[in-house]
Amino acid sequence: MKGRLLIAETPRHIGETVTIAGWVSVRRDHGKLIFLDIRDRSGSVQAIVLPSAGPAYEAAQEIRSEHVVAIEGLVKERPGGAEKAGSALGGIELEISAIRTISAPAETLPFEISVPELDLNLDTLLDHRTIALRNARLQAIFRIYSTMLSAYAARMRAADFLEIKTPKLVGSATEGGANFFTVNYFDRKAYLAQSPQFYKQAGISIFERVFEVGSVFRAEPHFTTRHVNEYVGLDAELGFISDFSEVMDELEATIKYVFAEIGKERASELALYGAALPADVPIPRLRLSEAVDILRESYGKEIEGGDIDAEGERMIGEYVKEKFGSDFVFLTHYPTALRPFYTMPSADDPSVTESFDLIYRGLEIASGGQRIHDYAQLSESIRSRGMNPDDFASYLDVFRYGCPPHGGWGLGSERIVQKLLGLGSIKEAILYPRDVKRLSP
Ligand code: ATP
Ligand code: MG
Repeated sequence: MKGRLLIAETPRHIGETVTIAGWVSVRRDHGKLIFLDIRDRSGSVQAIVLPSAGPAYEAAQEIRSEHVVAIEGLVKERPGGAEKAGSALGGIELEISAIRTISAPAETLPFEISVPELDLNLDTLLDHRTIALRNARLQAIFRIYSTMLSAYAARMRAADFLEIKTPKLVGSATEGGANFFTVNYFDRKAYLAQSPQFYKQAGISIFERVFEVGSVFRAEPHFTTRHVNEYVGLDAELGFISDFSEVMDELEATIKYVFAEIGKERASELALYGAALPADVPIPRLRLSEAVDILRESYGKEIEGGDIDAEGERMIGEYVKEKFGSDFVFLTHYPTALRPFYTMPSADDPSVTESFDLIYRGLEIASGGQRIHDYAQLSESIRSRGMNPDDFASYLDVFRYGCPPHGGWGLGSERIVQKLLGLGSIKEAILYPRDVKRLSP
């Protein structure tokens, strides 16, 4: 909008008449005075209209909360205002000389959104998603999320990873099998990609280091606080590694950079959640078998089948926090039987793999490791799992013609923000989440 000043800029214009535009968060009447809290994308400010404002005062009579308005007013310092409005911009007040409604709601909103904390259950919050997201505290989640995305990409680029985008419509459901969504694709079936794994391995055979930020689809009927059926994966793959500790090193540096940037850029948003950044200490690395022993000895918890469950992850999270002061832990050397066929077995003990999960505050946020790069070994691994290498022909071509040792990770973007802010469900960290029941809005 021409001539519009963002609210965050108003403190630099004290004594001037400016035009702002935004939403009316709250209207308050004090005797003959009308107070309007106006918000835009940069912040919020209190505006006041006096009876002496004439036509503007008349116009203000019609203004209600959530009207979209343009306001012309004199920028004044507001004594003692900072603590009142609870924001850095509280020190400013606008004395309205003209006000115009740009758009008025056709109906009142289903709930009051300009409250510090919306007290709605998750379903209501998600049913009325776009309206609920007018709330400043909810918006803070996505401002933090946005910083996370840009910091991740910046760090990957700085480490010389090339950003790629790989297809999400794929022709065969090979890797895992069961958890693919099927879609109609002209006269045949296609599937929604449940991982960029094969393409990013192809990527490193071309570019050495690649990363992707992309949608991942999982057709798993989960009813948990940490799963959805569409999420955004922060993936990376790097070639010429000596061993999988280099993959963990790279992920650790990336994670630390991302949190540091969130801390720098989003301090006020973090404060709305009383959220503390993770402690900046080296991330401990424990073999899964050690973690299993710790769970048995310190928590009396027996692990069946080799992989620790969500409760076990929580306990290990507590353990490393106490023992190492770390919010993270790498669990390494998962049993070969529990990892996909492309995972590199350990040379000294092929029953375990050169793989890891990264746990943040007791929740898995990433899986990764070294991949098999030798054509014969990979073909054999496929066969050993009862699958046919012919079904993997184009994937195997990556290795048939020579490929360096490599590894990488898949990192869940939403779980990072969920745990950072202490959100009850991952769905709160997603604008429009998709779960077993929910396909809209
Ligand atoms: P989990 O064991 O928690 O179900 P996973 O081991 O099946 O996850 P991976 O295939 O390792 O998941 O995916 C890599 C990362 O992607 C996970 O560590 C997690 O952060 C994220 N992720 C995986 N599945 C989901 C999902 N359904 N919803 C949200 N994030 C997910
Ligand atoms: Mg995993």
